[in-house]
Amino acid sequence: MAGNKTYSENDIKKALTFIEIFDKADEIDCGGCGYKTCREFAAAMLDGTAKPSMCVVLSKKIIEKLKKKEKELRDSLFLNQEILDAVPAPILYEDIEGRAIGCNKAYEDIAGIKRFDIKDKKLFEYSDNKLYNELNEKLNASLLKNPVKQVVEADVKYPGGDTITIELHKAVFTDRSGAAAGFVSVLFDITERVKRSRELAIAKDTAELSVSLLKKMPSGFVIVDDRLTIIESNSAFAKLMGDDIEVIEEINPGLKGADLRSVFSHHQLFSALMESGEDTYSKDVVHNGKKMNITLFTIEKNKTAGAVFLDLSMPDVRNEEVRKRAENVIRENLDTVQKIAYLLGENASKTENVLSSVIRLLSENEK
Ligand code: SF4
Repeated sequence: MAGNKTYSENDIKKALTFIEIFDKADEIDCGGCGYKTCREFAAAMLDGTAKPSMCVVLSKKIIEKLKKKEKELRDSLFLNQEILDAVPAPILYEDIEGRAIGCNKAYEDIAGIKRFDIKDKKLFEYSDNKLYNELNEKLNASLLKNPVKQVVEADVKYPGGDTITIELHKAVFTDRSGAAAGFVSVLFDITERVKRSRELAIAKDTAELSVSLLKKMPSGFVIVDDRLTIIESNSAFAKLMGDDIEVIEEINPGLKGADLRSVFSHHQLFSALMESGEDTYSKDVVHNGKKMNITLFTIEKNKTAGAVFLDLSMPDVRNEEVRKRAENVIRENLDTVQKIAYLLGENASKTENVLSSVIRLLSENEK
């Protein structure tokens, strides 16, 4: 029972708001608090003999709200996990001590574990990849000192034994106060990229070496794109094309960027080969008063073509037998020449573009 003190309507109304009663309809007078009416309970609160927590209706409301919040939280966590599982890159998140909090499906696959089995465990407790475990520990220590995202390459093993190269992106995540709360790791499989980079580096070296060899060979060679722009050629080609072209070649070695139509009177042979998509074509032609044999070959269908020129007026080539043999040699080595030429052509520029992009990305990342 409330005391004898009488309170104003305004005081009672204010006290009722503590138990979330804001108008007359909310005053249900259930008696659950031990007072006959809500107003008596409000007066007791003003007396200091009752507390809001004694109102069972309010307690029920709070419990309902908490249940609703808990459900929302669970739904949100479930959604977060679903989103993480949809990410194809393996993701692991650890607490500040380096103990696993969770991971996504891709990480389960790569590590051969289940997220519930690694909870609260450090990496070395469930992974036998010593090098990677040490790297992870070093990164954690480094990130605590300097919480800037780190990107490193490492080799990891699949449970089946396959080794892959990964790019590990690791960063600190914080709590609401902004303090470091743990680490998040995202692993990108770059095995193919690394392999291709190595292959391309070797191919580029081979191409550069081959270019210098091609440039020194006595027969002329030229590579053009579909607009008949010269991509590469050698001095022997320029010599065959005439004195003027030979002079230009001295200023612009390889005649790069020059229009074949203004260099070679039978340029239409290149257009015809590229339009037909044929692999190779050979013909004797006369250009600049010189009889020559030209063997054209497709480098990239309808896009790039090359040709090897034999000066038939040369004493050692004049002999028909020798000419045939030379043609055979070219034919037999056509594959190699095509590969080299292909690397010199668009593919090499694509490769350079890709490498430049990677370098640019990495530079930006480092910044
Ligand atoms: S329990 Fe709450 S709603 Fe019920 S009478 Fe007491 S104060 Fe009013």
